Amino acid sequence: MLPNFLMKRVQLTPDRKALQTSTVTYTFREMMQEADLRARSLYAQGVKSHMRVALRAPSTVDTYLMIQACLLLQVELVLLNRRLTREEIDYQLADAEVSRIITDDFSFFEGCAIPLISLDDIREAPAISYSTQIERDATASIMYTSGTTGFPKGVRQTYGNHTANAMASITNLGFLPTDCWLCAMPLFHISGLSIVMRSLLYGMPVYLMEKFDALKSAQLIQEGKVTIMSVVAPTLRAIIEEMEQREWQASPKFRLMLAGGGVIPESYIERANALHLPIVQTYGMTETSSQTATLSSEDSLRKLGSVGKPLFFNDLKVGASNTPYEHGEIYVRGPHVTPGYIGKFADNSPLQDGWLATGDLGYFDEEGYLYILDRRKDLIISGGENIYPAEIEKVLARHEAIVEAGVCGVPDEQWGEVPAAYIVCDSEVREEEIIQFCAQHLARYKIPKHIYFCETLPRNASNKLLRRELRAWNYSKSN
Ligand code: AMP
Ligand code: MG
Ligand code: MG
Repeated sequence: MLPNFLMKRVQLTPDRKALQTSTVTYTFREMMQEADLRARSLYAQGVKSHMRVALRAPSTVDTYLMIQACLLLQVELVLLNRRLTREEIDYQLADAEVSRIITDDFSFFEGCAIPLISLDDIREAPAISYSTQIERDATASIMYTSGTTGFPKGVRQTYGNHTANAMASITNLGFLPTDCWLCAMPLFHISGLSIVMRSLLYGMPVYLMEKFDALKSAQLIQEGKVTIMSVVAPTLRAIIEEMEQREWQASPKFRLMLAGGGVIPESYIERANALHLPIVQTYGMTETSSQTATLSSEDSLRKLGSVGKPLFFNDLKVGASNTPYEHGEIYVRGPHVTPGYIGKFADNSPLQDGWLATGDLGYFDEEGYLYILDRRKDLIISGGENIYPAEIEKVLARHEAIVEAGVCGVPDEQWGEVPAAYIVCDSEVREEEIIQFCAQHLARYKIPKHIYFCETLPRNASNKLLRRELRAWNYSKSN
């Protein structure tokens, strides 16, 4: 059994800061009061423990407090991605057999048969009592996988999974009483929700940013108002650029940037280092309630490009034999791994003999550090050679005119498939220059055969590059 997270935290350190924005601050005691009001109101509106309740709302303080209320009540919270269309959301609501929807936007759900609860309709209601204990394998949250593969599956994250993840993270990153984690990732994604869980388990304040703001983030880092932040490549780049432009450096109080969710170009880590902005790469996913391997800060430059070793309670395997430098699929095992999916995929266990097959390709070096190559599905096979789009993207990102790049395989009569690159530039550059640049850093067969200039790249709500959409773009361009 585990304790009810918020109740236990309030019992331990009621007066510690729990949540902060540029305008408000809550201690854990105050957060408990706010969560209690909301939980009573939910209860009065028919929400009971273990009921499945969906939440669709921006990452505001109100939403944060509502998530606390749901945890207090122990409902199974289905976190809906706000960028999805109504049709996509309807699929998830039906698949999860949701009983209620909490939202700030009733018009989005027009005609929906499921009862809606307004995020800010907090009704006066009688006191209720909460169970102080939680089953380890009770579902705390459900998130539909971001769908980079096209088939959304509802992933269960249990209280045990969240606990294991937060504990594994702290054995690597440590914790200081002065820590404050900047959350600029959506709360509906595991990168955001895992910060909420760490806050409760460590007694740590979260600085909440409703939407990622590069300048504001850079400022908080420079002033030392936050000490840890989770980023993905595009948000990391935006912060680095703000700091470079203003000749700012990270405050010595700022401990580290946790960078993951996709390929992090090594050039970003080097640029960040010049700003005294320590970065560690991490590898995680919805199915592992966030981090599964993370580099330790002392290895950050020595093992540039690696995502580190499996965290304390976790185990990783590459292919069948773990042979150093041999490429293979990555498997994960540990108490942070989801027990499985809900709905349509409930019977399709993601585990094989207790190991989660990630669909990612990688390799270990001789010291057991993991390197991520790419998603297995995105691998390009060109004339029998394996090409990892991520490798080409990293090279392209180093070109000074290129802001970001996405690479995918496209059909080719001679080679079966060849790489095509989609690039976003912030200054004039000719296609030939880019090809030449690639030729300096990549084997011939890896040089993109097509280069397309575009305004933005297709990304999902957690900023992950959607190579599936790039392939569709290519199709529409060639027709
Ligand atoms: P999600 O389930 O949406 O959180 O996405 C998880 C996926 O993001 C993983 O399966 C990887 O494909 C990718 N990913 C996460 N961290 C990294 C990383 N550090 N480097 C490369 N890919 C990553
Ligand atoms: Mg995934
Ligand atoms: Mg560049």
